[in-house]
Amino acid sequence: MSDSNTKESLEKISNGSPKPTSPNADLKLDFASFWEYSPAPESSEHVKIDDRYNHFINGEFVEPVKGRYMKSVNPATEEIICEFAEGTSEDVDKAVKAARKAYEKTWSKLTGKERGKYIFRIARMIQERARELAIIESIDGGKPIRESRDVDVPLAAAHFFYYAGWADKLNYAFPGRKPKSLGVCGQIIPWNFPLLMLAWKIAPALATGNTVVLKPAESTPVTALKFAEICRDAGLPAGVVNIVTGAGATGSEIVNHPDVNKIAFTGSTKVGKIIQKSIAGTGKKLTLELGGKGPNIVFEDAPIDQAVEGIVNAIFFNQGHVCCAGSRLLVQEGVAEKLVQKLKDRMETLIVGDPLDKNTDIGAINSKAQFERIQSYLEIGVNEGAEMYQCSSKIPENGYFCKPTLFTNVSQSNRIVQEEIFGPVLTIQTFRTPEEAIEKANNTPYGLASGVWTDKGSKIFKTGQSIRSGVMWSNTYNKFDPTSPFGGYKESGIGREGGLHGLYPYLTF
Ligand code: NAD
Repeated sequence: MSDSNTKESLEKISNGSPKPTSPNADLKLDFASFWEYSPAPESSEHVKIDDRYNHFINGEFVEPVKGRYMKSVNPATEEIICEFAEGTSEDVDKAVKAARKAYEKTWSKLTGKERGKYIFRIARMIQERARELAIIESIDGGKPIRESRDVDVPLAAAHFFYYAGWADKLNYAFPGRKPKSLGVCGQIIPWNFPLLMLAWKIAPALATGNTVVLKPAESTPVTALKFAEICRDAGLPAGVVNIVTGAGATGSEIVNHPDVNKIAFTGSTKVGKIIQKSIAGTGKKLTLELGGKGPNIVFEDAPIDQAVEGIVNAIFFNQGHVCCAGSRLLVQEGVAEKLVQKLKDRMETLIVGDPLDKNTDIGAINSKAQFERIQSYLEIGVNEGAEMYQCSSKIPENGYFCKPTLFTNVSQSNRIVQEEIFGPVLTIQTFRTPEEAIEKANNTPYGLASGVWTDKGSKIFKTGQSIRSGVMWSNTYNKFDPTSPFGGYKESGIGREGGLHGLYPYLTF
């Protein structure tokens, strides 16, 4: 095929024509097939998910006091995966009592070295069961297996390894001070990184000598319950880790339990504000990791092809279900047209589909409710006068799938620019000067993460000092490491998790 033919076909694709075909009909070449691969599904035959799960309290699985159960659904097929217990005040009270007893009788009495041994063991067992955990994460949450296998599970194990190392070195971490554990920690996590968020919370809590009552999100409870099996099999003393499942009402019971010393919450800003109000004046410690609307800034001197990859990684992978997603692209005028065209071309090659297929780039939206929320934002964007572009790739007929979407012709006051959508939806704005980019970047209620793409170190430093965000990546995006602290400014949260900073919220001095 000649270069001009190739170019013409690529143009057709990038214009979003429904089914791109070869310009040379005689050859019967389907150009879209360039991006089609044979299915490569990960086998899930060896993975066992029970029909019903109970709470994990005091080292064993126990039925909920009121006998009520909820259902977890596979968002890629809409099939029910299993039932899980719905926690009530009675269940939460049992879990808090077990955690208190374990704290006073066992866990706080152990040396840091002994605690560290248990945490190292848990880390190794996560590695041993890595494949199983990755598959379950993809079935329960809809994320591509490539992501759960290569990011979520290895990073979860890495957090346990990292904090296990701190358990016997707390006196060196805070020289001249006497760090003491807090007691019982209530921890509530969201659905976008179920096992990883659990690791961010449980690993530092145990390393610092606290015990835990954790509630996973109602749409992704299964890996937390598999983690409970790991705690049991690791011989962790009963009551040190308790997992109570349920929805918001169960989380609220944990927050308001009088014998909880600290609340660690990751989730929406709306619920974070409710929690902050309800524990005001109680003396409970609090960390909040909340929503975001990350600006991703591309200067004219940036390596454009690298930036395009970074933009795709920042917003489209993991279906945009990332609190620190780069959901607002700010691009300098001189390269805007070229960059947007390259981005559209790249979007054509993204595969949206079966989360268990190793070729899949974008899996299923986590739940029906989240799917409907994203659809409503697409309507809002169009009604606000923005121009919407979606690639032509096919999406499965069943399940909750959303094509990667761009909005151009947006203004700073548009809701799609200001509000967190939490889906594969990118807004694009242009700027002329670095000052304008910084002004626009800072102009939302959030301040969690940001990105900057440029050839000049000086621009990276200037932007980094001026943008109010807890994390800033330069010439890359969404890179995580357990040694690095993470957290937000403004309505994106209070406190830091990860690294040495992640020990502070679990200690008193
Ligand atoms: P959500 O706030 O609806 O729910 C989070 C958790 O809180 C769930 O377990 C839920 O059952 C529980 N919950 C709900 N109402 C509660 C209440 N009144 N009291 C106590 N617990 C309650 O959030 P979500 O939709 O599950 O997750 C998406 C949100 O999480 C997004 O806003 C995203 O940005 C944020 N998030 C932030 C980070 C971060 O590190 N900053 C990481 C991941 C996700």
